[in-house]
Amino acid sequence: MKVTDHIRAASDTLVSFEILPPLKGKTIESIYAHLDPLMEFKPSFINVTYHRSEQVFKKRADGSFEKIEVRKRPGTVGICAAIMNHYKIDAVPHLICGGFNVQETENALIDLAFLGIDNVLALRGDAAKNETLFEPESNGHAYALDLLRQIVNLNHGIYLEEEIREGNKTKFCIGVAGYPEKHFEAPNMESDLRYLKYKVDGGADYITTQMFFDNKKYFDFVKRSREIGIEVPILPGLKPITSKKQLSVLPRTFHVDIPTELSNEILKCRTDADVEIVGTEWLLAQSRELKKANVPVLHYYTLGKPQVIANVVREIV
Ligand SMILES: Cc1cc2nc3c(=O)[nH]c(=O)nc-3n(C[C@H](O)[C@H](O)[C@H](O)COP(=O)(O)OP(=O)(O)OC[C@H]3O[C@@H](n4cnc5c(N)ncnc54)[C@H](O)[C@@H]3O)c2cc1C
Repeated sequence: MKVTDHIRAASDTLVSFEILPPLKGKTIESIYAHLDPLMEFKPSFINVTYHRSEQVFKKRADGSFEKIEVRKRPGTVGICAAIMNHYKIDAVPHLICGGFNVQETENALIDLAFLGIDNVLALRGDAAKNETLFEPESNGHAYALDLLRQIVNLNHGIYLEEEIREGNKTKFCIGVAGYPEKHFEAPNMESDLRYLKYKVDGGADYITTQMFFDNKKYFDFVKRSREIGIEVPILPGLKPITSKKQLSVLPRTFHVDIPTELSNEILKCRTDADVEIVGTEWLLAQSRELKKANVPVLHYYTLGKPQVIANVVREIV
């Protein structure tokens, strides 16, 4: 079932989760162990992130180095299929432009369609670790908008090979990313919102936001989006802070602000167990306020902390 159909059919705010594939070498059981504590909340769908390969240097026996490609977290599509089979819950694979040319993208989409996956989150992806700016593959997409257009084409039965006429029309519900605190490469919020609007005009069915810790940022983002004619659902992305280290890691990695009130409380904590209590309370307060404001879905980034999310969601459902 499509994310937008879940939202349309709901009489109250829904709950959804995002997970990461496990590090290579682990089993699907590690995913079930992560998700099992969250299943009592009947999530409407579960997102699974996509991680491109990285180039690393491996030392040879003779002391020289060779450059090799390593994908630390493969398995996005397989995990989506396993989730749908095991829990009978819809899965939303993330699909990125980075590392894919258009043919590989089409093949990936055909796999998803054959597996009965109705949803996809279309993203550009970040620059590879050895690049300063995002570089598309040769014959790959430069922006999420271009990827989105390819998915929309497939939904109309338009494949890359022009000779395929009357090809199967896929039925993907397409989500895209939005940034309440601006994407870090955008020169300003106006520009970022304009490109977001292009994605919606191009066929995006809904927006999922980057994490934020100040609800005002989300409310303002929704207001500004509506003012420029973005009408699709905007799903808030939420994450608990559970360690002191995250006070610098999260802003550096995700380009988000941590409100002074929250950072002050965290700095007073003696242990990360104390931080977890503060982070849980903060997330609970955020979730309560968002639910009161009738957001369509509370979308939680579980990132290895399912128990913390469970403690929050239990209080609000
Ligand atoms: C909910 C969510 C889930 C994510 N999941 C993943 C994941 O699974 N895997 C992963 O690798 N990354 C993931 N990311 C990170 C994301 O890939 C990065 O933030 C990436 O840098 C931007 O992706 P985007 O889809 O927003 O890009 P785009 O929408 O393409 O935007 C990228 C930048 O380019 C600008 N822009 C857009 N179109 C144009 C244009 N035509 N001309 C000039 N500028 C333009 C935008 O303003 C923005 O600054 C996720 C992010 C979010 C919010």
